[in-house]
Amino acid sequence: MNWITKPPLLLRLFYPSVLWRVKTCRKEVFLTFDDGPVPGITPWVLNWLDRYEACGTFFCVGDNIRKYPTIYQQLLDSGNEAGSHGFSHKPGNKLGFEAYLKDIDLGLEVNSKARWFRPPHGIIWPWWVSAIRKKGIDIAMWDVLSRDYDRSFTPDWVKDNVLKNLRPGSVVVFHDSLKAWPNLKEALPAVLDWISQNGYTTRLLSSINQNKRIL
Ligand SMILES: [Zn+2]
Repeated sequence: MNWITKPPLLLRLFYPSVLWRVKTCRKEVFLTFDDGPVPGITPWVLNWLDRYEACGTFFCVGDNIRKYPTIYQQLLDSGNEAGSHGFSHKPGNKLGFEAYLKDIDLGLEVNSKARWFRPPHGIIWPWWVSAIRKKGIDIAMWDVLSRDYDRSFTPDWVKDNVLKNLRPGSVVVFHDSLKAWPNLKEALPAVLDWISQNGYTTRLLSSINQNKRIL
């Protein structure tokens, strides 16, 4: 098993109050999209979700919301959900704790309805969790990382990587970013097709009950 794609149980155990996967007996998964909104790409994702009557939680970078408010509004109007991915997308280990918290505040200023936060670059220390949750946001990590951003992988590899790791309750990460675009544009439609062919449905993170998180 690839530990980057699927974070190991040992790592998850260090973060018990963070969401990795949702406890469910149904074939339902939680698609998430990080790093937007980005012109051309975020609207394209919304369109594909709509075609499959699927939905997703978009972890938006505050600075991109500032640059592209119309796309952010389009995302909210589409019935999908905007979570926060900080303001500057700088990793916490470079910013330090105080600046990291400040960056989260700035991100929430332009994204006030966000209920979920995903740390930029996935970097968060267990002892930072409670201070972040005090801001009224919950932290969502993931069960399956598509690795769509890595151009050394082909779209087919990305699709297979998602599908072989997918299970009920999986929180799956894609990126509505320029870096991921060559992989995303082929892998996402294929994954959506597989989901609908195999009796799975998609849900928004905000629709889950807080005690439904599992490792
Ligand atoms: Zn990111």
